[in-house]
Amino acid sequence: MSVVNVLFLVICMTIDFKEQEIIMERVKALLKGEERFALVETYGCQQNVNDSQKYEGILQKMGYTLTDDREKADFIMFNTCAVRDRAEKKVLGNIGALKHLKAKKPRMVIAIAGCMSQQESVEKKIRASYPHVDMILGTRAMADFPRALEAVLVEKKRVINREENDCVLENVPTNYDGGCKAFVSIMYGCNNFCTYCIVPYVRGRERSRSMEAVIEECTLLAKRGVKEITLLGQNVNSYGKDMGMTEGFATLLGEVDKIDGIERIRFMSSHPKDISDEVLSVMANSKHICHQLHLPLQSGSDKLLKEMNRVYNREKYLSIVDKAKKLMPDLAITTDIIVGFPTETEEDFEDTLDMLKTVKYDSIFSFIYSKREGTPAAKMEFAATEEEIRARFDRLLSVQNDISYELNKKCEGEVQEVLVEGMSKEEGILTSRNYANKIVNFKGDESLVGKIVKVKITRAQTWILIGEVCG
Ligand code: SF4
Repeated sequence: MSVVNVLFLVICMTIDFKEQEIIMERVKALLKGEERFALVETYGCQQNVNDSQKYEGILQKMGYTLTDDREKADFIMFNTCAVRDRAEKKVLGNIGALKHLKAKKPRMVIAIAGCMSQQESVEKKIRASYPHVDMILGTRAMADFPRALEAVLVEKKRVINREENDCVLENVPTNYDGGCKAFVSIMYGCNNFCTYCIVPYVRGRERSRSMEAVIEECTLLAKRGVKEITLLGQNVNSYGKDMGMTEGFATLLGEVDKIDGIERIRFMSSHPKDISDEVLSVMANSKHICHQLHLPLQSGSDKLLKEMNRVYNREKYLSIVDKAKKLMPDLAITTDIIVGFPTETEEDFEDTLDMLKTVKYDSIFSFIYSKREGTPAAKMEFAATEEEIRARFDRLLSVQNDISYELNKKCEGEVQEVLVEGMSKEEGILTSRNYANKIVNFKGDESLVGKIVKVKITRAQTWILIGEVCG
């Protein structure tokens, strides 16, 4: 397969996706009214989930019907994550497994998008070993997707676009799945360069969407019946700084809080170095912002925080928690923890356990450090063996499980408002989330899906709460 390297140079800050309508119509015409199926498989974070919804929306606009079935699909995209090595290997394995499908169905188009495909090393690997992949789109190439697909379909050539730009896309067709919750990206990229993280290298510098565009999207979602919105960004607390705002995120939160029909607002991720008193105060005084804060700690050791380039220490972190809890005594706090950062010693790890016990997180997202080539941490020597790191990981989970259970136990007897998301796997049992984003399961029928209902918590488990509808 010959290769076209697409140079799609854009210098503007905002691209209106409506400009792609003509190309999308041309692609639709190419399908000649035949039903074609598309599948987008997502790996990684909520930002990727949101990007996939956009890729799906674009595909629908071009005439594709969405499917979950690889065998049925005429177009398959892997929207990838580069944060962990294991996820990368899984994607490559899945792409490899499609070779026989493509041989049976030559019209099938296979694409790889997202953080993995932004890396030169991945492009080289795909070129060398995966000739059946038709399209490689980096993290900033979505605007080029309709044109790239047209080129693959018409010219039968592989298209690669790993262009780096500072653009923000607006008016992208999006496949909001019709549920009661939605993600809204408010900014892209990251300026922080934590030493273990690949994100700033693959997603570029921080770029905020205009406040008007974010509010317009949230208003539209409210009109479609969405009740809960999660505002997304790698570091939402620096929203608007690239546009010269000083309290941009606090202002945005206040504005979203005023939108009719939006009952719950969440946001993630918050970098502790950037969260302001103003944001906490808007949260505390708002009508709809959930008293739930995801505040990534990563490590409880000051030495490690410095080596990770996190730009805060235990004292600063605890002072934020303290302030936030004073303003919102019912605040639920969650965090991210990395176990086994290269220089982590037993003492550093004990400091992390100590932070868990001090802050008392409702839940944590913990990961074993994964080496990412090209980051400063990739050159650091390991202070612990793999076995020791695994044992630490298990100890961390065990400490956290006790804390989560203890906090959940306190909810027993409380009446809480929950947003019903759907039926659980158990027959006749609904699954919902409370303000703290904890799962609450209770008996009920489908008529309650999408509604906010009052539930009395009758039993606590480590990860979920069990309840019953109140009178
Ligand atoms: S804040 Fe740090 S960990 Fe988060 S995306 Fe940016 S560089 Fe990565």
